[in-house]
Amino acid sequence: MNNRTFTMIKPDAFSKGYSGLILDRIIQAGFKIIAVKMTRLSPEKAGEFYAVHRERGFYQELVDFMSSGPIIAAILEKSNAVADFRTLIGATDPAKATEGTIRKLYAASVGENAIHGSDSNENAKIESDFFFSVLERY
Ligand code: GDP
Repeated sequence: MNNRTFTMIKPDAFSKGYSGLILDRIIQAGFKIIAVKMTRLSPEKAGEFYAVHRERGFYQELVDFMSSGPIIAAILEKSNAVADFRTLIGATDPAKATEGTIRKLYAASVGENAIHGSDSNENAKIESDFFFSVLERY
């Protein structure tokens, strides 16, 4: 999976109508969409997805936010996908994100930061398998 990563357009960006603009930026940056779906996480599923942050002070806030409305989940393909996508989305805190990155353009805060991108090849596979069956990938 070195050439694949996983992303979610989070509920804040979705509800503000940024999904089309964000998907366009992703495609223009050279990523191919291998799988995509619109869905909504239950609090249980959001908690499972972010289980690694269970002990953090913001965990409940994160679970509430990620289950607050629809998201768009996708698997993306490109050489060096994980690192290149992290560069495209920018720092976790949009105030610290580089100009022109997706979070700089579309995120409001460190919690409601518009988009997710896997942080390793291993997590890209785990997160892709969390959302997509083999039959949903093209
Ligand atoms: P990422 O890999 O850039 O998404 O950042 P992390 O793995 O550190 O955090 C995962 C997600 O938790 C972030 O994208 C934010 O949505 C959320 N998060 C991180 N730090 C905070 C925080 O201080 N407060 C809140 N409310 N959410 C946070």
